[in-house]
Amino acid sequence: MTLHTAEVVAIGDELIHGAMLDTNSRWLASELESAGLSLQRITVVGDDLAQLSDAILQACRRASVVVSTGGLGPTLDDRTREAGAQIAGGPCWFDEVSWLRIQDYLRGRKRPVPESNRRQAEFPTGAVVLANPVGTAPGFLLSAHRAHWFALPGVPREMQRMVQDHVLPWVRTLPSLQPSVQQLLRVIGPSEAMLGERIAAFMHGGRNPAVGVTVGNGMITIRITGTAKTVALAQQACEATAKELRPLLATWLLYEGAEELHALVVQRLIARQVTLALAESCTGGLLAGRFTEVAGVSEVFLGGFVCYANAAKVRDLAVEPALLAMHGAVSEPVAAAMATGAAQRTGARLAIAITGVAGPGGGTPDKPVGTVSFGLSLDGVVQTWTLRMPDLGRSFIRERSVLEALAAILRSVQA
Ligand code: ATP
Repeated sequence: MTLHTAEVVAIGDELIHGAMLDTNSRWLASELESAGLSLQRITVVGDDLAQLSDAILQACRRASVVVSTGGLGPTLDDRTREAGAQIAGGPCWFDEVSWLRIQDYLRGRKRPVPESNRRQAEFPTGAVVLANPVGTAPGFLLSAHRAHWFALPGVPREMQRMVQDHVLPWVRTLPSLQPSVQQLLRVIGPSEAMLGERIAAFMHGGRNPAVGVTVGNGMITIRITGTAKTVALAQQACEATAKELRPLLATWLLYEGAEELHALVVQRLIARQVTLALAESCTGGLLAGRFTEVAGVSEVFLGGFVCYANAAKVRDLAVEPALLAMHGAVSEPVAAAMATGAAQRTGARLAIAITGVAGPGGGTPDKPVGTVSFGLSLDGVVQTWTLRMPDLGRSFIRERSVLEALAAILRSVQA
């Protein structure tokens, strides 16, 4: 079986100085691996010509497919073409057709056509021009050492379009490709170590499908990656592994799939025609913000209250002052009253309340930083619970609270 190896080279000073996140490589890694290439390395390099040429050259010596992004713009610090000329061992040539396309593209958008854009129509000796229908920078394909090197622009939208137009169709012509697919199981509850112990038998290197774990703000994603002769066979293999994992996860398993949790929750609320209201204290509207990212949420989301001060809890949600005095703002009785208040004020079927100590100050021995109480009211039936999360910082506590609320809503609408 031939193994087709790939490397990605992300080019740009802004990437190595930390001014911009290299999201292109992440996207490319997933696309190239899904197409059946085995990604071996990602290199991030600045605009310096010597460094850039060296990075590309080394990648072309190791891998059979190299995809670079960036450095194809019209300015003098865009040096990918020069690196290509050095690697090809000859001067660049000027492509009249590309220059006409660039002018058409700019004029079509009523933009001036600076002479400096001519640089974008220059290509290394032996390069095949790759048209860019959504920007000015054409890419190129150059054979170098044992590799085919695709040089693509840095702008994510342009790079992605050119991968679809040029790179993937070419990759699909390679013999004996092994496409890979991913299946995701989303887990909430255990620590990463606890989960790791439970599924240790699946996590050894060299397993196909491979099972890996990533963690973010309390949500653990189990990633099952299967590689096989066809996509259908790879899917079957992933599902067989998922079938073995599900009983081990039991109630830790929240949902499956690539969809974001908040989008899934909205879908379920709409499907079940359950209207929603929120009462947020320590999350300060973070949960409402997450919900309103989802187009179409207006069908079910009636409104949210950000009641940070006790006075606001009393005024806006009709929480009894005596309740606050007796139990404190971070308590299950207050969370229950907040949820009830939000449901009554809006007429929503489901209301969730979050009240907690996000820190860094405000903790007490009784209620240390990370103590968060939740209240959920569904058709007038209220349940409450309290999480004591580790003090991993204010941002973690707020995000973890949002995750907890989303998980609770999902569970109550799918029950
Ligand atoms: P263009 O001529 O269209 O600008 P280019 O090839 O010169 O293309 P760059 O100048 O390197 O591309 O990058 C253009 C913009 O694309 C950057 O300012 C940045 O916003 C974005 N970009 C570049 N590389 C990356 C990357 N690896 N990940 C995410 N964004 C990137």
